[in-house]
Amino acid sequence: MGTGKAGGAHVRGIIVLLAALAIAWLAGGEFVAKHQPDVIYPGPGVTEVRRLSDYHPGLAGGPGDTNVYVLEGTQPGATVLVLGGTHPDEFAGFMAALILVEHAQVQQGRLIVIPQANASGFTHNLAGEGHPAYIDVETPGGLRRFRFGARATNPVHQWPDPDVYVQASGQQLSGSETRNLNRAYPGRPDGTLTEQVAYAITELIRREGAAMAFDLHEASPEYPVINTIVAHPRMMELAVMATMDLELQGIAIGLEQSPAALRGLSHREWGDYTETLAALFESANPSQGRLRGRTGAELVLEGQDPLYERAAALGRLYVPFGPEGHPLESRTGRHLSTLKAFFEMYSLLNPLDGISVSGLPGYEELLANGVGAYLQPPR
Ligand SMILES: [Zn+2]
Repeated sequence: MGTGKAGGAHVRGIIVLLAALAIAWLAGGEFVAKHQPDVIYPGPGVTEVRRLSDYHPGLAGGPGDTNVYVLEGTQPGATVLVLGGTHPDEFAGFMAALILVEHAQVQQGRLIVIPQANASGFTHNLAGEGHPAYIDVETPGGLRRFRFGARATNPVHQWPDPDVYVQASGQQLSGSETRNLNRAYPGRPDGTLTEQVAYAITELIRREGAAMAFDLHEASPEYPVINTIVAHPRMMELAVMATMDLELQGIAIGLEQSPAALRGLSHREWGDYTETLAALFESANPSQGRLRGRTGAELVLEGQDPLYERAAALGRLYVPFGPEGHPLESRTGRHLSTLKAFFEMYSLLNPLDGISVSGLPGYEELLANGVGAYLQPPR
């Protein structure tokens, strides 16, 4: 071996190392940028902005803390909690909650909205799934950019995952579910970050005496629980009324009762551990499915996918899937119309203690104008 050959290998090694560092530096910038919070503009209805750590000081200053928007009406009535962003890659849930914060006004009662329930989950995304890092939403005053997060808490904030996640109830789940906010309820004040976030939300429901609480989700079109309301047994009567109201409006929707044996889920544990009437909604989003084709921001926004059209033709889906797909407006519109139906049915049964909210676009209105029409323009 001559020294010249060894020297060449040495130089090549340094070049490879420098190239790797350059790529890491470039990629690192993108990772760090995802920790910048999204800009949310409180709309005319917001009367107070709180933090989730107000309900569990252990979260203060950490990655699980998140804004809690209060919209209080002039007439006393029921308090209602709405969560978006439990799963930060289920974009329509986040958008529906954001429209409440930026556009809704409350006349009777009080609305409490947490648009990014799992704040840590918004700080990363599943690049391996082809998921976009950001989604641009067009408003009449220009584009608004939002982070497209991942389903679970960022492992940078909660690590390592155990082999088996033993849920507070004793139920055993796969280790990665330990970072799933919707398996963490009712939460533990001294538990993992995800369990502490769950605990703070349960505490909020208890302390604020929320009469109803809603958790907005999306799932893939091949998942059986889709375009569906999942309601706690005590919520079923209202849910049946809301379902009938939606069907009368031409919005087909399913209804299921929270299974007793599946623990850690919002609708089940909020209903068991507090007095609230709890429900979760699922809209159909092809960007989450296994059958999808090309994946990117367009798929999240437009919800159109020829492979899902084929799957629908083969009878493999639980929702219709035509060329129009399931665009963001339609999915967000379903969430808002379902919330509206619950508000109205609750107020019908409790006229002196109801909840009355204005400024929520109807389903057809959202389809016509787009989600951005009901968000604040960028400043
Ligand atoms: Zn979900």
